[in-house]
Amino acid sequence: MVRVFTFASGKGGTGKTTMTINLGTSLARFGKRTCIMDADIGMANLGLAIGLDNVPVTLHEVLSGKASIHDAIYDGPGGVQVVPSGISLQGFQQADPEALRDVLKELVDRLDYLLIDAPAGISRDGVVPLAIADDVILVVNPELSAIVDAMKTKILAEVVGGRVYGAIVNRATPEGSDQVTKKMEKVLGVRVIGMVPDDQNVRKAASAKTPVVMKYPTSPSSVSIRKIAAGMAGITYNKDVQEPRDSFVDRFSKVLFRGRR
Ligand code: ADP
Ligand code: MG
Repeated sequence: MVRVFTFASGKGGTGKTTMTINLGTSLARFGKRTCIMDADIGMANLGLAIGLDNVPVTLHEVLSGKASIHDAIYDGPGGVQVVPSGISLQGFQQADPEALRDVLKELVDRLDYLLIDAPAGISRDGVVPLAIADDVILVVNPELSAIVDAMKTKILAEVVGGRVYGAIVNRATPEGSDQVTKKMEKVLGVRVIGMVPDDQNVRKAASAKTPVVMKYPTSPSSVSIRKIAAGMAGITYNKDVQEPRDSFVDRFSKVLFRGRR
């Protein structure tokens, strides 16, 4: 049975796509059947961030009834499955965000975790990902505009029947992290499930189209992200225990079955 997490923020650029990709990759590397989906159907960029931007079938075709979800799932880094969205305006116009509900039914038994990257702002295509989530995770930066927008998103999620699991404070600075956590929890009324520091390795990994948890696994951001992923999966995180490396068979089968599943 799949557990669906939706990453939302209100304000754009807080790190939703980065968290979706890296938490998804971490969960996959913990051995969980995990899929990440770009539900930002107007401004798709999840696929682009991991080199899956030039694929034949995307969520656009699925939401417009032209293709099955099974044809829009691709192999991503670390064994995570990926559903990218399309970039054409026409594809966006034809996509029906409501169709996401039926898509979910097809994935229920195939996965342990589905991580949905939701669009910023309060739009029609952003409501469904909030409503279908078992848990909504707010991605916030430690600045007032991001907190206010996250607050609106939290209220919207609750109105449409979603449950807010917690907030990730991304791009945090090391000073006063306890105070920031307390303040966030007080203002937002949700639990802070983790803090991810501002870390230049995130941008360096992004330009290499690789999740930071794979490119720079010991970087401060990667360690924080893996801890959050462990919390989501109910696993005790131990920094001394390395994730399993790709076995020879895994690598061989990846070469053979590169691309579509
Ligand atoms: P969103 O999906 O919410 O719009 P992104 O995940 O695309 O946000 O992140 C916006 C930008 O911030 C990207 O360039 C990303 O590489 C960068 N970024 C995200 N998290 C961090 C971090 N912890 N440290 C440094 N840069 C970050
Ligand atoms: Mg994004």
